[in-house]
Amino acid sequence: MAPNLSLLLGAFLLLFVAVQSKNHPKPPEKGFKFLQHLEGCHKGQTVKGLHELKRYLEKFGYLNYGTTNNHHHSKSTATISNLNHANDDVFDDILEYAVVGLQELRSVCSRAFQKWQDVSRFTFAEAPQGADRDIVIGFDRGNHGDGDQNAFDGRGQTSAHAFPPTRGWFHYDADEDWSSNPNTDQIDLESIAVHEIGHVLGLGHNEDLNAIMYAYLSYETIKRDLSANDIEGIRVLYSS
Ligand SMILES: [Zn+2]
Ligand SMILES: [Zn+2]
Repeated sequence: MAPNLSLLLGAFLLLFVAVQSKNHPKPPEKGFKFLQHLEGCHKGQTVKGLHELKRYLEKFGYLNYGTTNNHHHSKSTATISNLNHANDDVFDDILEYAVVGLQELRSVCSRAFQKWQDVSRFTFAEAPQGADRDIVIGFDRGNHGDGDQNAFDGRGQTSAHAFPPTRGWFHYDADEDWSSNPNTDQIDLESIAVHEIGHVLGLGHNEDLNAIMYAYLSYETIKRDLSANDIEGIRVLYSS
């Protein structure tokens, strides 16, 4: 059974590099081939080569066996008990969380970035942990280190925020119930991602109800496509 996404949120940190030129060559897609033969694998199984996947996911910040200090992982009660699975081929619960989160969140954010890339001079690529990056995406709770006035407020009201250039911070409120297929109590990950990336790129709110940059999004609503207003906004902002 796929774990509830809201339980996973603390464990992921996506790093993106923005390059303001479409001529910049895209880095080759690599590293995900070994995900393919994992289809159908379940928690508790031992699968040859799984330790490589763990190492890869840890390198990119998608999972943490407690070998490094990171406040994003402090709420994972599974961390300590799984420490001894860090280097073996056991499909443990930490790995399950990471893989589900990576299939979900990684593609959600990639699609959201693509929306803006399609209509601007920016290109985006995921950056390995430790590499230079322009945009950092994470899940946080309450007061999380970017000022008292930016503390998250638990469930309801503010669900995410992002800072204008060149800070590059985009934070989801981990106390919300997030989904990529939201029910009446959930918020759509991708709709919020497209909106917050707009802020990261420098756009403010738009009064057009249909705009991605409209200030409000209700539970269950899916709004992932840029409106003419959004597109005009980014083009005016970066017109030379
Ligand atoms: Zn924040
Ligand atoms: Zn906003």
